[in-house]
Amino acid sequence: MLQVIKNRLEQGHRTSKYPKEPINLYKRFRGLPKVDPKCDGALIQRCADACPQDCIDTKNCRIDLGRCVFCGLCETLSGGKFVTFSQNCEMGTASRDDLFTQGDLPALAEHSKKHFKKLFGRSLQLRQISAGGCNACEADTNVLNTPFWDLSRFGIQFVASPRHADGIHVTGPLTKNMRAATITTFEAIPHPKVVIASGACAISGGPFYGSDEIVGDLNSIIPVDLYIPGCPPHPLTTLHALLTYFK
Ligand code: SF4
Ligand code: SF4
Repeated sequence: MLQVIKNRLEQGHRTSKYPKEPINLYKRFRGLPKVDPKCDGALIQRCADACPQDCIDTKNCRIDLGRCVFCGLCETLSGGKFVTFSQNCEMGTASRDDLFTQGDLPALAEHSKKHFKKLFGRSLQLRQISAGGCNACEADTNVLNTPFWDLSRFGIQFVASPRHADGIHVTGPLTKNMRAATITTFEAIPHPKVVIASGACAISGGPFYGSDEIVGDLNSIIPVDLYIPGCPPHPLTTLHALLTYFK
């Protein structure tokens, strides 16, 4: 017992002070990209041809953040002339269309449905649905329950039963085998309820885009309220989106 107390005194309080104090991200973290539409057309086309996700719109000079896996290839190929990735992790949006961007996203708080804040501002219970992804999205969401992030201090928790939940948090490209289970879980949640698509897979199919084995777009079967881009989304991206949209 004395050893436990000694350890606690030595280790101190490890929980971050976010959002009162910012969290420093690793220097190689790739956040919101900034696109230069005045860049040479040939270079833009070269980046678009090389993009593994086919998510560069050369006509409008935009990147689809709902499909981008943040591999950084476009930044490397263009030497930062066409795309540069910022350290801004605040990328959640309420509209799929807003994820087609040159580097500007609307303020999420303004797009939040007011009654969601009233209903879930003090307590939000979510049921996680892993719909066939690689497990990185789940792992980086799970991190939010560690002492550093301590998600429950914000009144947000993941629960086992959809009957106890206010909404679903979906990761993965929604394999056809998970289609019925996802709809059943959604229907089991009492009204009003929220739907969160987390990660490129749940938003668009991500790296599995085009596969015959997936649905690939959660919004095509149930209405999505909140989109959280990334592959996987950084825990801070998820936390910022949840706090801004619901709190
Ligand atoms: S970072 Fe995104 S837009 Fe750039 S090449 Fe990779 S997937 Fe394509
Ligand atoms: S979005 Fe990326 S990290 Fe998340 S499940 Fe899909 S492939 Fe894995």
